[in-house]
Amino acid sequence: AKRSGTGVVLYDGDRHAHGSGHLALVEELRAGLAGGELVLHHQPQLDVATGRITGVEALVRWAHPTRGLLLPADFLPLAEVHGLMGTLTETVLEQAVSQAASWHREGRRLPVSVNLSASNLLDAGLPARVSELLATHALSPDLLVLEVTESVLLTDPDRSLAVVGALADLGVTVSIDDFGTGYSSLAYLRDLPVAELKLDRSFTVDLLTDQRTAAIVASTIALAHRLGLRVVAEGVEDQATLSRLQALDCDVSQGYLHSRPLPADELPRWVAAHGRSPGVRSGA
Ligand code: C2E
Ligand code: MG
Ligand code: MG
Ligand code: MG
Repeated sequence: AKRSGTGVVLYDGDRHAHGSGHLALVEELRAGLAGGELVLHHQPQLDVATGRITGVEALVRWAHPTRGLLLPADFLPLAEVHGLMGTLTETVLEQAVSQAASWHREGRRLPVSVNLSASNLLDAGLPARVSELLATHALSPDLLVLEVTESVLLTDPDRSLAVVGALADLGVTVSIDDFGTGYSSLAYLRDLPVAELKLDRSFTVDLLTDQRTAAIVASTIALAHRLGLRVVAEGVEDQATLSRLQALDCDVSQGYLHSRPLPADELPRWVAAHGRSPGVRSGA
């Protein structure tokens, strides 16, 4: 069973898949989606060379009326299984695009990254809806980044490739998330119109202690650069790792070293305090 931050067992995979607790939670999620309980927190991404903020990743949270703030692991599997991922992504995209547009109006050019799920990439209508959303909020497409994982592309490569291609044609940035953990990474780098690669946290974590990991990271960054891609390191938690990433010419750093994901209204304060100074402080 999974434990949420509140210590309540929320979702127990198959064991309670047909139990009443599970069904109740699905209904709560349905209601929560309709009632605006799904909210975004934003995690800053910093230019490794300058320490400036380059963008944020939008990460969904469920502000549950009684259970507290729930993390994606607590409810995303449920949404996927019960066909709610389309609705969830609509909500997330709407909020992310609206937020990026609002920051832009305030004079902040802050691209927002949104995570897509497997089912999203099988939805041939998604590119048109993204296009409409950008138009509605008058957001330039280069301020939206869409993250896809390699595993997502495995479900139905032809269909998902077509959707990713159509999204890239809109001018939004396509990013490969959790890079290095899936299969056929190199084929996707060759075939997909991606502009960004996010090195999975498992590589960042072992960078300083494992020579093989270090070799893979160094080579991946060099390869990405030869292909004209920007590299984001996920899960950067300490200054020593950041320094190594800097030496390896990694472009962008994201992790608890800089900041945890923050509610949108806390971001301007964070940017004022940390986001524009070179180098990075710990304990942010
Ligand atoms: P992800 O896209 O790889 O996002 C990074 C996750 O790592 C986030 O967890 C983030 O809070 C966490 N993280 C960031 N920095 C650090 C660090 O320094 N150390 C550690 N240990 N963790 C760090 P979160 O928010 O719980 O999200 C988990 C996953 O849920 C995401 O992984 C993504 O796959 C998925 N997800 C989140 N939001 C959405 C969404 O709106 N839609 C979809 N489809 N998936 C989402
Ligand atoms: Mg992501
Ligand atoms: Mg990731
Ligand atoms: Mg990851």
